[in-house]
Amino acid sequence: MLKIAFIGGFDEVGKNCVAINSNGTVVIIDMGLDISKYIEITEDNIPSKNELINYGAVPNIEEYEKLNWPKPKLIFIAHGHLDHVGAIPHIITHFKNVKIMGTAFTIKILEKIYLSERKVIENPIEIINSDCKYYVDENITLVTQPIAHSILDTTIVCIKTPDGNVVYANDFKIDTKPVLGKPTDLKKIKKAFGEVKFLITDSTGSVDDGKSMSEEMVKKMLDDLFSYIDVKENLIVVTTFSSHIQRLSTIVKKLKKEHRKVFLIGRSLEKYTSIAKELGYFNFDKYCEKVLYPRQIQKFFNKIKNNKIDRKKIALIITGHQGEPNAILAKILSDRLPDIFQKDDVFIFSSRIIPVQMHIENRAIIDQQLKDRKVRIFKDIHVSGHPAKEDLREFVNMMNPEFIVPAHCDKRLKDSAVEVYQNMGYKLNENIIYVNNSNYLEYESKNNDKKEKFKLNKID
Ligand SMILES: [Zn+2]
Repeated sequence: MLKIAFIGGFDEVGKNCVAINSNGTVVIIDMGLDISKYIEITEDNIPSKNELINYGAVPNIEEYEKLNWPKPKLIFIAHGHLDHVGAIPHIITHFKNVKIMGTAFTIKILEKIYLSERKVIENPIEIINSDCKYYVDENITLVTQPIAHSILDTTIVCIKTPDGNVVYANDFKIDTKPVLGKPTDLKKIKKAFGEVKFLITDSTGSVDDGKSMSEEMVKKMLDDLFSYIDVKENLIVVTTFSSHIQRLSTIVKKLKKEHRKVFLIGRSLEKYTSIAKELGYFNFDKYCEKVLYPRQIQKFFNKIKNNKIDRKKIALIITGHQGEPNAILAKILSDRLPDIFQKDDVFIFSSRIIPVQMHIENRAIIDQQLKDRKVRIFKDIHVSGHPAKEDLREFVNMMNPEFIVPAHCDKRLKDSAVEVYQNMGYKLNENIIYVNNSNYLEYESKNNDKKEKFKLNKID
C-alpha cells in the first residue's frame, strides 16, 4: 500500500514537509520553515522545539509519531530554500541516524545553517547529483532530475513504488535560459519518471496569469534601466535574495559594466556567494569586494556618508528587500547604521514583495523612508521562480498525472491551482486531491478499478 502524509505546506506558503510510505518503507521530503512565523517567534527569544511547532514555524513532526509508521529510511531535501530545509536542526531529533540527502548546493546550505546555530549535524549526509537514481529498497526507488528555480541545484523528485510513482515538484519554474545552472527539460524529466500516479506540485504562482519569465529577462530589464537613467553622480544600491546566485551574478556583471566597483555587504550574502564559488558556479571575488562584519560595515558606510569614497564610482548590494527589520537596509534607514543615502541616489529592488502581511507592512515603511530621502526607487526588476498558470498547464500536460495534489499554498493559492486543473478537465475530489496539513492518503493500485480510488484521512 502507498500512503502519503501531508505534514506541512498545505495550509501556508512554506513549512514544506511530506512523508511517503510504500509498504512500510518511508521517505520524507523537505523540512522547511514558515519563514514569517519563524522570524516573529525568534525575534526576541530562543524558542524550544515545542514552541516552534505550536506557533506553526516548523512542520508539526509530532504528527509523524501519531501515524505509527516505521522510522524513515531517508530525508530528502529538494532544494536549499529555508522553507524546504530550514526546520531540520529544530525537528531532526525525531529521526536520529536517518540519512539526509540532497544536492551539493542544498547540503552546503544545511551545513551553514548548523554552523550559524552552533550545532553539529549528527545524521549521516549524502550528496547526490541533481540527475540521480537511488535505490532505497524494493519498495522505493528515488529518482531526481534538475529543474530551474530561484536557487541553484534544485531537484524535482520521483518516488517510484510498486503502487505507482509519486512526483514531488516543490518548487520549480519552466526556464530554458536560467543564466546559471541547468535549464528545465520537461521531456527529459518525463522520460526519467515515466507514468505519474500522484503529482504534488508548487502552487505559489497559481494566481499569476500567463507564464513566469526566464531569469534571462532580468538582464534585459537591467540593460533597459541603465540605458536611460542618469546616475553619473549618484550612488547605486541594489537589493535581492541572498540565495539567488543567478540573479546576483547578473547584477554584479551589469554593475561592473557600468564601471562601478561593486561591494557585497553583510554575512548573509557572503554565506551563499561563497558556496557558489566553492562549487564552481560563479566566482564573485572576480567581480566584487565583500564587507562582512558589523564594524567593517559601520566604517565603510561612514566613509560613504562623509564622501571619503567617491560614491559615483561604487555600487552596493545589500539585504532587506522585504523590509526585514534586521537586514542592512532597515538598519540604514533607522539609524542603526550610518545613513549613506543622498538625494537622487538610485535604489533597485530586484525582488517582489512576498504577499504576506508582515512583508507588505515592513516594505511600506522602507519605501516611505527611501522616498523621504528623495532616493529614486526602481522596483520589481524581478521574475518569479515559481510556475504561473500557463506553466502549470504545460507542466501537468507533460507529466500527465492520474492525481494532482496542490502544494506550497494557503487556501487562496490552492483554490486558484484547483481552477487551473479544472479548466484542464481534472475533477475536484476525483483526481484533484484537496489536502490540508495533517491529512494523509491511502492508495492501493489493485483497488484502482473501485469507485473510491484513494482514501483521504486525518492524522489523529
Ligand atoms: Zn524554493
